[in-house]
Amino acid sequence: MAENFLYLTFMKTREDLHQQLRRIDGKGYKAYKDIQGQFDFEDFVLHIDYVQGDPFASPSRLRLRLDNHFPEWACRNRSREVALRDFLARQFARCIRRFAQGQRGSGKSGAIFICQPGQEILERTAVVLDKDKLEVRFQVGLPAFGRRIAGQQAAAILLEELPAIVKHSLFPEALDEYRLREHLLTNEDADALRDQLDALNLVAFVANGALLPRASGIDPRPLESGLPFKSPDNMVVEVQLPNRKVSGMGIAPGITLITGGGYHGKSTLLRAIELGIYNHIPGDGREFVVTHPNALKIRAEDGRFVEKLNISPFINNLPGAIDTLRFSTRNASGSTSQAANVMEALEAGARALLIDEDTSATNFMIRDHRMQQLVPKEREPITPFVDKARPLYEELGVSSIIVVGGSGLYFDIADSVLCMVEYEPQDLTARAHEIARAYPEDRSAEGEKSFGALPRRAPIAESLDAQKGNREKVRAFGTRSLQFGTEEIGLSAVEQLVDNSQLNAIGDALLYARKYMDGRSLAEILEQVMADIESGSLDVLSRRKEGHSAVFRKLELAAALNRLRSLRVE
Ligand code: ADP
Ligand code: MG
Repeated sequence: MAENFLYLTFMKTREDLHQQLRRIDGKGYKAYKDIQGQFDFEDFVLHIDYVQGDPFASPSRLRLRLDNHFPEWACRNRSREVALRDFLARQFARCIRRFAQGQRGSGKSGAIFICQPGQEILERTAVVLDKDKLEVRFQVGLPAFGRRIAGQQAAAILLEELPAIVKHSLFPEALDEYRLREHLLTNEDADALRDQLDALNLVAFVANGALLPRASGIDPRPLESGLPFKSPDNMVVEVQLPNRKVSGMGIAPGITLITGGGYHGKSTLLRAIELGIYNHIPGDGREFVVTHPNALKIRAEDGRFVEKLNISPFINNLPGAIDTLRFSTRNASGSTSQAANVMEALEAGARALLIDEDTSATNFMIRDHRMQQLVPKEREPITPFVDKARPLYEELGVSSIIVVGGSGLYFDIADSVLCMVEYEPQDLTARAHEIARAYPEDRSAEGEKSFGALPRRAPIAESLDAQKGNREKVRAFGTRSLQFGTEEIGLSAVEQLVDNSQLNAIGDALLYARKYMDGRSLAEILEQVMADIESGSLDVLSRRKEGHSAVFRKLELAAALNRLRSLRVE
């Protein structure tokens, strides 16, 4: 109430905004700067924080703040609050489509934007709860004809469309309570399931009845005609969650193989596990496919940059006596890139590695007896993953889940062997071990028996230079890449990034992390940045309160840093 009282005395109103728009109608675009400020709309306060310089520039930044009218149950804990905010962002986006006329006039004129969530429920800054206030952050292309202000159109957007959007998206009575409740409780249960994984001694859980395949290679919605998941009987785990009981396949720590014929659903299962680090919206099919939060997809990525990384557990004796304790390249091969990806994952704190033969370098994964005869170890720098996966688990506690349909070499080291048969996993562990005994491989294990040393590098702050022209410029392109000053960080091989807003936040986090780059190790820096976000919010990363950030893991922050080609370490 005190806040309202201040507003009455100092704040301009909706009518003031209308008059200002009438006054600047038809003037040059710069006159829009006059409407920067706050306006009381009674139901909410509109903040026009930043007005774009011209109709073709990035759209203007606005926020609206209102009392939170949602009942206590909807904000009771963090899981529910995050899901409520996610739900409201979706609803707001839906109402933009319903009530806003959209683009009219030149450039981005007339369009209203809010970041558009996909299949995942992510904490994002588009909608935030700040004590008892709800804040929505969005953008508007302030309309113009040519470069002349279209005042009437602006009035229609800000004074008519926007209030209609707010009325139908941000008040409990406008929402379908059943859907809202399902959204919140699903998120709460998925979080609870992930929290229980350690206690259940699991690295991943795939619920019976889950629908794993996607509508298409470019459409992440469920394939409605897909066969629901069914766990092998002996692997079924039952878990009591706050709002339901689920049963499904539990994957224990250690080395798990996913084998089976081509096109029988191996990669689809692994992909679902990869994305089980996130919660999914009701109806997605993967609501209760949940993975250890520090599980990381590892793949080959030839051409990538690597900076002074210890890859010696996997690569030694490179031609030209190249140092593999401090291996640098601007153009890694398939196998060295995959080795680098594993070593960087360990450096950043990954607890499980997810590997698919489809995206792996064969010579990184296996080396058989005949090849050992033809190319002696002295002339093969690579120690294949099959010789390192076991010490990786036993010494460092890092599990592997590996899709492999093309080689039985992994039978000897696997704790568990699944075989996909027409999209349904069978547990063939005993059979695979029997085969391994009946047909022993002649090959000899390669490399040191123990895993070897882990990298410990200290990034140098000055090597993260985002200057372009006279200002720092960091910009995300889809989930593909980040522009960082004059550098481009390619992220298409970092497969667990799912949202453009995550890249925006990672871009901000790279700049932010520089203050900790004072000789500290990369692992320490990552922990520090994540702790700051945890104790504040994503807003700590950026001066401007923008609505286009979403949560990311330290593993993806490290991945972006490691792919910045100007990076230097001590
Ligand atoms: P693999 O890796 O074993 O060769 P994929 O996982 O790529 O096979 O799956 C092959 C095809 O089968 C894909 O088009 C995928 O969408 C589809 N698919 C996977 N799982 C299912 C399922 N449970 N029901 C129906 N189709 C599925
Ligand atoms: Mg495959």
